[in-house]
Amino acid sequence: MRDLSTAAGPAAGVADGHRVGPQLRGTARALARAHDVLLLDLDGVVYAGPRALPGAADRLARCRQAGARLGYVTNNASRTPQAVAEQLLDLGVEASEEAVVTSAQAAARLLAERLPDGSRVLVVGGEGLVAALIEQGLEPVWSADDDPAAVAQGFHPSVGWAQLAEGAYALATGVVWVASNLDRTVPTERGTAPGNGTLVEALRTATGREPVVAGKPEPALFDEAIRRLGGRLPLVVGDRIDTDIAGARRSGLPSLLVLTGVSTLADVCTAQGEDRPDYVAPDLEGLLLEHPEVRRHGASFGCAGAIATIDGSTPSLVLAGAGAPAVLAGLRALVAACWVHDDPGSLDLGPATQTLHEMMAVAPRRSDARQ
Ligand SMILES: [Mg+2]
Repeated sequence: MRDLSTAAGPAAGVADGHRVGPQLRGTARALARAHDVLLLDLDGVVYAGPRALPGAADRLARCRQAGARLGYVTNNASRTPQAVAEQLLDLGVEASEEAVVTSAQAAARLLAERLPDGSRVLVVGGEGLVAALIEQGLEPVWSADDDPAAVAQGFHPSVGWAQLAEGAYALATGVVWVASNLDRTVPTERGTAPGNGTLVEALRTATGREPVVAGKPEPALFDEAIRRLGGRLPLVVGDRIDTDIAGARRSGLPSLLVLTGVSTLADVCTAQGEDRPDYVAPDLEGLLLEHPEVRRHGASFGCAGAIATIDGSTPSLVLAGAGAPAVLAGLRALVAACWVHDDPGSLDLGPATQTLHEMMAVAPRRSDARQ
């Protein structure tokens, strides 16, 4: 069983005697040593489309050497865990099928909890969903005339009108409907394309029904990941505030936001409430570093020598030294300063962002040359 006593839920911050809502956590050990299981999102964290992010494979290998077990938790229901693991291996990331947990598996678990063994489930999706249903002892079917006891819907490029129509016919009988996730878009090599949320919307419009949802930010996917991967002190690692970070918070898990994907520095600086991560880092190197406490001195916030000051509408940022630890400290100081500001959305983050980017450009990254 997880021990959440020191790792879950928002840390209520206190600054100059005022409670200011969830604040960044500090840790005197590298996150990969302080947490026994890392629940990593894939796109925007490990890879971007078909390519590994610079340094990702090397950094994940070092996390493993530091003692962390690595799990890969994805909202994408189209592929099987085996196919995802093979892609990771091709990118130089060591991964077994058992280390991959998909929203299709979480959706199948939700159905297995509601239906007798061997029940027929109409699939609006592809092989990822089919494999997950079979794993749970359910029988995938493709026609509403097969008298299904439920509808399972997950993204697959092959989904078209005919499958959606079968879904609508089955849903008209009142059976349960589970959607793997509600991501409106999926990234493809040619751009942004409709995701499962958009296809779910078609059935919602046609039927007036509402699905049960398995994927992030709903808790079922992280529940499934914990069930399969175990761990006493898991850490969620993601690039999206609205799915990875919000989902971690709802599941009572601590989280690290990396700025290599969808969510930007401005997004994290203006995040409120359950959207705030426990940790933030420019990239996966943040798993291999300690995260020093941020301390407030009036309008200034200091972290390991870095100082962020908000005096007026343009925060200033002074870093102490070079390299990844100095950049991380500066980022933490800046985020902490913004989180206690009355209206962080009004701040001009341009100069502070420039300071961070200039320093990241010269920060040594061990394996950039290899990828
Ligand atoms: Mg992502």
